[in-house]
Amino acid sequence: MSGLAHLTLAELSRLLARKEVSAVELAQHFLDRIEQHRALNAFLDVRPDVTLAQARAADARRARGESGPLLGVPVAHKDIFVTRDWASTAASKMLAGYMSPFDATVVANLQAAGMVCLGKLNCDEFAMGSSNENSAFGPVRNPWDAEAVPGGSSGGSSAAVAARLAPAATATDTGGSIREPAAFTGVTGVKPTYGRPSRWGIIAFASSLDTAGVMTQTAEDAALVFNAMLGFDPKDSTSVQRPPEDYTRHLQDGVRGLRIGVPKEFFGPGLSADVEAAVRAALIEFERLGAHLIEISLPNAELGIPVYYVIAPAEASSNLARYDGVRYGHRARAYADLTDMIKKTRAEGFGAEPKRRILIGTYVLSHGYYDAYFIKAMQVRRLIAQDFARAFAQCDLIAGPVTTSVAFDFGERTTDPVAMYLADLYTVPGSLAGIPSASIPCGFGAKGRPVGLQLMANHFEEAKLLGAAHAYQCATDWHRRVPTGF
Ligand code: GLN
Repeated sequence: MSGLAHLTLAELSRLLARKEVSAVELAQHFLDRIEQHRALNAFLDVRPDVTLAQARAADARRARGESGPLLGVPVAHKDIFVTRDWASTAASKMLAGYMSPFDATVVANLQAAGMVCLGKLNCDEFAMGSSNENSAFGPVRNPWDAEAVPGGSSGGSSAAVAARLAPAATATDTGGSIREPAAFTGVTGVKPTYGRPSRWGIIAFASSLDTAGVMTQTAEDAALVFNAMLGFDPKDSTSVQRPPEDYTRHLQDGVRGLRIGVPKEFFGPGLSADVEAAVRAALIEFERLGAHLIEISLPNAELGIPVYYVIAPAEASSNLARYDGVRYGHRARAYADLTDMIKKTRAEGFGAEPKRRILIGTYVLSHGYYDAYFIKAMQVRRLIAQDFARAFAQCDLIAGPVTTSVAFDFGERTTDPVAMYLADLYTVPGSLAGIPSASIPCGFGAKGRPVGLQLMANHFEEAKLLGAAHAYQCATDWHRRVPTGF
């Protein structure tokens, strides 16, 4: 144990408020750990001078009498959010070294609340992947087991929080990229309702799905971050205009009388026995705490993966068209004419997975296939959303596994894209419906690797979801386990 780093965000916040530690001391402590654990490859850009300047500014604000639960608390950002003071690459060679002229709204909101940025976190290229093996800057190691992937696409975020290199890390979830890596590394990962967090300054992947969220040790910490992070942003056309909320308001409610729906489709063939055992034990714990379990059905959920792999690549192919070697990012060194320049730039700049998705996306959007694939996928997406709407008429929350297995090994799925895509079998339906959803640590499975429990709520009910997660975390200590050596 090395003390400070093992405290939760809420605990650090109390130390700062009592002036038992300064923001500068905290920032230096985490910067030292980041340096010490560079072998994880969790961070892509660390600039201690900028971090310490932010920490000094936070201390100065507190000295002037300002307060706030996040003032002086460190955070690290997935390298899919653009930042003015650190390079913003989306883990792609296409954007290597790119400096943004502005901060993403999520980054700006957290900085305004006084959070101190520790640097930028590795991820899959353009957030496409489930294992972090698609990063142009090398994979991230899972702190629990160097042979295991940390999940993806937010593998830097999950590894950083699991290894206690940061008390909180931002991430994005398009089809599961917060929940799956959180499950694989034993941290709490929460994706809010689509439209709650601003997409302004998030390097775009699939715009109708991209949702910013956070990874922390606890649900309470996630609620504290959400209070500053979420909110209407006129710069994002799909941002929802609702009055501000206190996401901590249900933390003390407990789960007595809460109806938890358990979808039978999430326990079918394909779910490994170790994950099933840990998830079932967590459900029993909820029952012991006073919740009622009811079996529900999400009949169209199994269509989530095929639907997602039409819609997400379609949107990606459109979003990635901007990387043409002219506006920003990589440009091929030698070329004959404009067309040749664009071709060579894109051939050199993109890795295999973005290229695969550009091809799939362009195909499903092309004349003659648009109706057969894209429109059909949009129709089934609606059916999946209706399944959830029907389920939430019967229950308050839905619970089940996050992943079919614990973290897999490096290389295990890289030769088979479909096997990789199936890692998101249980997370994609919630993404297509746009509902809030979390992964919370609920035990360990094969080879001592962590297991996550997925909790889903109806649109805009993240406070209820966080309350239930907090009740579970008050009764269990899975979220406090730290991998050996960290
Ligand atoms: N693994 C999924 C994909 O590769 C989800 C990624 C994400 O949520 N960003 O698209």
